[in-house]
Amino acid sequence: MHYVDVILPLPLQDTYTYAITDQMHDSVSRGCRVVVQFGKKKVYTAIVTRVHNEPPPFEGVKYVTEVLENHPIVNERQMQLWEWIANYYLCPIGDVYKAALPGGLKPKDDSALREKNKRRRLHLDSSFTLGESTILRPLSPAQQTAYDDILTSFTDHDTTLLHGVTSSGKTEIYIHLIEHYIAQGKQVLYLLPEIALTTQITDRLEAVFGDDMGVYHSKFTDAQRVAVYQKQLSDSPYRLILGVRSSVFLPFQDLGLVIVDEEHEQSYKQQEPAPRYHARSAALILARMFGAKTLLGTATPSFEVYHFARKGRYGYVQLTQRYQGMQLPDIHIVDIKELKRRKQMIGAFSPQLVDAIREALARREQVILFHNRRGFSHFIECKQCGWVPRCSHCDVSLTYHKKTLQLTCHYCGYTYRLPDTCPACGEKNFMSKGVGTEKVEDQIAEIFPEASVLRMDLDTTRSRNSYEQIINDFADHKADILIGTQMVTKGLDFDNVSIVGILDADTMMNQPDFRAYERTFQTLSQVAGRAGRKNHTGQVFLQTKSADSPTIQHVVANRYWDLFYTQMLEREQFHYPPFHRLIYVYLRHKDAQLLDHLAAEMADRLRAVFGARVLGPDTPPVSRVQSLYIRKIMIKIENSASTDKVRQALLTIQKQMLNQPVANALSIYYDVDPL
Ligand code: ADP
Ligand code: ZN
Ligand code: ZN
Repeated sequence: MHYVDVILPLPLQDTYTYAITDQMHDSVSRGCRVVVQFGKKKVYTAIVTRVHNEPPPFEGVKYVTEVLENHPIVNERQMQLWEWIANYYLCPIGDVYKAALPGGLKPKDDSALREKNKRRRLHLDSSFTLGESTILRPLSPAQQTAYDDILTSFTDHDTTLLHGVTSSGKTEIYIHLIEHYIAQGKQVLYLLPEIALTTQITDRLEAVFGDDMGVYHSKFTDAQRVAVYQKQLSDSPYRLILGVRSSVFLPFQDLGLVIVDEEHEQSYKQQEPAPRYHARSAALILARMFGAKTLLGTATPSFEVYHFARKGRYGYVQLTQRYQGMQLPDIHIVDIKELKRRKQMIGAFSPQLVDAIREALARREQVILFHNRRGFSHFIECKQCGWVPRCSHCDVSLTYHKKTLQLTCHYCGYTYRLPDTCPACGEKNFMSKGVGTEKVEDQIAEIFPEASVLRMDLDTTRSRNSYEQIINDFADHKADILIGTQMVTKGLDFDNVSIVGILDADTMMNQPDFRAYERTFQTLSQVAGRAGRKNHTGQVFLQTKSADSPTIQHVVANRYWDLFYTQMLEREQFHYPPFHRLIYVYLRHKDAQLLDHLAAEMADRLRAVFGARVLGPDTPPVSRVQSLYIRKIMIKIENSASTDKVRQALLTIQKQMLNQPVANALSIYYDVDPL
């Protein structure tokens, strides 16, 4: 009798055993897809992890319904990466499977499966052509030196940090490195944190690598993603993959180099749902499995990476000059506290910024305005009685979206119609509080009615080509002003932008998070770096209520080191990364009182093992999402501690907790290396 263990696309920790016929046994192997029945009626596409002859310790083992192919579609290294992610990030392997394969490869019912299979065969036929248009520019002397230094550094480091100021021409260095590795017959993975960025860099890379390059991200149709995945399995895989976070899950055959561009970006970490993995860490593991090299590139390194570079664990290469000696932008601090007091603000704008925009528009130059909040206002309030609409499923006030006349919960996505009258007092007198990007857009239309404006935030980029449209239109100067959230801060390269306005630098800085200053420095330096890239010295107007804050001063003077140094002293003293590892344990339940009780019990059990490394339980700032209350326990663990032992201890305690009948609706999950 033969059996297979399989991973199901469900949040399940374990693999499940099914029987196979002799005929199936001839074709099935680790990494193949099979169709199995799970539960009474449900049918799933599962991935085989093991073929064996050991009968399971229970009666009535079911047979695999169908073997979908006779070759693995998940190769050995992918399988190991899945296992590493499940182990390190303390999440069910089924969740990793769900995240790793495009939807088309894990259909639920049979008919859909057959349809997909037909299409798959088609894709495999698509032939492979070599890129024809090779447009390699000459590197500048500084770029050439950095390029040589990177290759030298790779001789004794697997991982190297390229720390180059904004506009130092890092992309061009990457392109030469990619050429170098492809010429040796190797594959390259080029990771970017944001789809918005891939659209800009795709054009540049396509000119050089043509059909050798595949692009992979969620704005492509599922069929397109399946095609890329299948091509990576075929005899003629793409030599270069450009993609976001999830590209680490693609099959590679002979990976030689991984580039993690804008390595400091938070969006490399998946927050919701599990697996809550960091693509940079996953990429390092993937590279290690292939004996490949990893280049981490950024103008503002994450403190973790910079720390390891200083310690010699990573190589370090620096570029301090912008390409062709362009100047870094001038940063002007605008103290809006004082301006507010004197009632001189024009909406969210200081007179200085308004003047600068006016002059730029007169010179036919462009402007980027960065604001950290989308929507129209943070919330609305009844002027009469102070009533504020809140989400009925989450513990947050609703964001007002004026265009759609909707109130939206940014946590669960639920939308509500704006009520005609206040449900508390019956009056019809709402006022909007706080400023979102939509309101910024309205204010600009009032101040500069002749200017054409584009807005880039989550709300304007939902459709498939919207990123591309906005970025191309702005690059083609079809608009004068681009308003956006963090999306506009990340590595975008526009020739004609002379003014960058940061409307409110304070919200980031005031976050209750040990990384708040690091992040503020990164975001502000990055957005400032969008100004004056080609021809002129850019001007940045940084509006803040805390003009004296050291972080703001460091940004202005580009003093990365000073901030790094003071922050490291604090982090070492209080046991934060990179000196310790953090694990957040989250508990969710619909009954707040019971949850408090269970969270306290879990913390006690954790303390019995981890002692004073355990803090909490605490109630997080948003303490209820989608009708479930949330509690959080923090564990600070020495870097030297064995991840295996820590995992074993945590999972044992988790099991003890969940085995109690009273805890049957409790959910426990982890955020390892939270950001
Ligand atoms: P970074 O990624 O370091 O911020 P980029 O790679 O975007 O910088 O380069 C900044 C600008 O300089 C881009 O417009 C790019 O096209 C140009 N550039 C960089 N290197 C070269 C080169 N060797 N030849 C021609 N143009 C270059
Ligand atoms: Zn009211
Ligand atoms: Zn909600």
